[in-house]
Amino acid sequence: MPGRLSLYVLLACLTMVASPADCGERSALGPIALSSIESDTGLLDRSEFLVETGAGMSLDAALRSHGWELATKATFKRGLTEAQIWMHFAVLNDSDEARKIVVTHDIMRLTDFTAYAVFEDGQTERADYDPMLPYVDRPLAYAGPAAALTVPAGERAEVVVRFGNSHPIPIHLNLRLWSESGFDRHTVANTAFFVFWIGCLATAACFWFLYGLFMRQARMIVYAVYMTGVACTYVIFSGVGLQLLFPGNSWFQHLGFNWAMFLLTGSAFEFARRHLDIERLHPRHNQVLRVAVAFYAIATVLAFPTKLPTAETALTYFSLISMPLYITWLSWTAWRRDGLRYASWMVVGWGSVSLSSLVIICVSAEFIPFLSVSHIFVARLTFVGMVFESLLLSASLAQWLRGQEVRRVAAEHAASRDALTGLLNRRGFDNQVLHLKQGGLWPGKLWLALIDLDGFKNINDTFSHGAGDSVLTHLAALLRREFRANDVTARFGGEEFVLLFEAESDAAARSVAERVRQRFADTPTRYEGAMIAHTLSAGLVRVAAGPNRDEATLIAMADTALYEAKRAGRNRVRAYSDIPDVGPQDGQGDAINPEPAPLNAPPALDAVIVRS
Ligand code: GH3
Ligand code: MG
Ligand code: MG
Repeated sequence: MPGRLSLYVLLACLTMVASPADCGERSALGPIALSSIESDTGLLDRSEFLVETGAGMSLDAALRSHGWELATKATFKRGLTEAQIWMHFAVLNDSDEARKIVVTHDIMRLTDFTAYAVFEDGQTERADYDPMLPYVDRPLAYAGPAAALTVPAGERAEVVVRFGNSHPIPIHLNLRLWSESGFDRHTVANTAFFVFWIGCLATAACFWFLYGLFMRQARMIVYAVYMTGVACTYVIFSGVGLQLLFPGNSWFQHLGFNWAMFLLTGSAFEFARRHLDIERLHPRHNQVLRVAVAFYAIATVLAFPTKLPTAETALTYFSLISMPLYITWLSWTAWRRDGLRYASWMVVGWGSVSLSSLVIICVSAEFIPFLSVSHIFVARLTFVGMVFESLLLSASLAQWLRGQEVRRVAAEHAASRDALTGLLNRRGFDNQVLHLKQGGLWPGKLWLALIDLDGFKNINDTFSHGAGDSVLTHLAALLRREFRANDVTARFGGEEFVLLFEAESDAAARSVAERVRQRFADTPTRYEGAMIAHTLSAGLVRVAAGPNRDEATLIAMADTALYEAKRAGRNRVRAYSDIPDVGPQDGQGDAINPEPAPLNAPPALDAVIVRS
């Protein structure tokens, strides 16, 4: 009864005694009909607040106080620190069954949160929220403080909530009132939201971790650690997530955030150091980053078992703003000055994180009076931003990998090509043979021809080495014209070339080789006003299956045929099968004659050179 009386006294005070000059314009605090709340509603303009003076004010004392003010948009950003605050509003259960309501505040770090329902008959119901209780043991799953009360059918109740902010960071003044079904829907949606984003991060982190492990790429492993830090930060923000993942860890929600931030910050620095090649390009910044990484590694280890919330929180805020700004600047330098194009993704990603960090700090510290968004909303927005940023880092890694691949292919290409003629070299030839064998095209109907220029030394001696080079490129161009893309044309070194081509018959293969010989003889090379006539000799062998028919043996056989061609006077094609005394012929697979008979003298110089 005294409670009811005092409530009436309070209401009388609120409506009649207080002057507009003291407290601003008052609205009559009519009860909120519970049937009108679909899901949830904010209580600005429908509730009043009181800042406690002195320690330990009782409910009665609070209700009797004259200091109540209407909670409005104007009072929302009151910047209250290290204070106990009371708020009250009225509800009416206009249905014919008892209804449960939930009252929440969206700042997670409130030190205590107690809700009272004061009924018209003087009865009082009390619901406590204990922030130190393990999350799983709390009666309501909510990221912030929450308390549930029951209002019997047809009853009106005055709901009074007391909460405290013991931190130097200000809090805003607003409560949220939920219907039971609305609150349940919210927690389910929150779980789905949590599971989806954490799932995305965990999948990406696992992928890059395993990829980095197999490819021996430390930057990818560090990136996976960074993603884990981001995921942990959000796990800590999400009460439901904590309930799912860490039942019984009461301290984790309060201190784990800082721990995860240190892990995230240290790994972000290390990733930037490795990914942007800072060690090589900017040794000074490399030193700074190394120190920062070591510092955050120690902070991460210390923050795990110890509880230093004030120092940790200050460091977390410092990290939140300095780390993204510094990495944005490093990425910008790497992109614009060092020409690392993949760093552009990091500029966009870390640039937007820098911006959102500034916003979150301003919102937390209530520097932006017109921005009336809740902390939980900002935290979620920042988290989605960080997931987005993480994906941009994935894109940056992917572009870096692409660059590595392009360079590897170019190096492979260069290593298998002859620099002068652009034809395959010996290594390239061997690779092609391997491909043919792996593709089941060996031996097929393949023929191998070994070409050697006639009297090439004379060309070099008479004209110049440059002229000799021109003749070699002239022949390479001719071979490129004469053979199809899937034939193999290679320069084995010096003035020796190897061809591997398909032909239906012995006669067809000979005519291919003969055509090349003829064209080369018919088209002298023009070099610095001189026309250089030239010829070539070729040895031909059919590629056949058998134990003694590997490519080295085949080349030796073609070489034997080539020497035969040279011995017979040059400028001709000889097939291995034409040689009478070399043992079993193509496809029989036996010894070849390793010592060809001595050659005739090379053709006279004037026979191969035509002066213009
Ligand atoms: P033969 O008819 O008996 O084959 O006589 P040849 O003069 O062609 O034979 P030899 O093997 O004695 O000479 C090959 C010459 O090829 C010797 C070397 O100076 C020259 N040579 C090797 N590689 C190159 C090159 O890349 N460019 C040029 N211009 N000459 C080269
Ligand atoms: Mg030679
Ligand atoms: Mg030669």
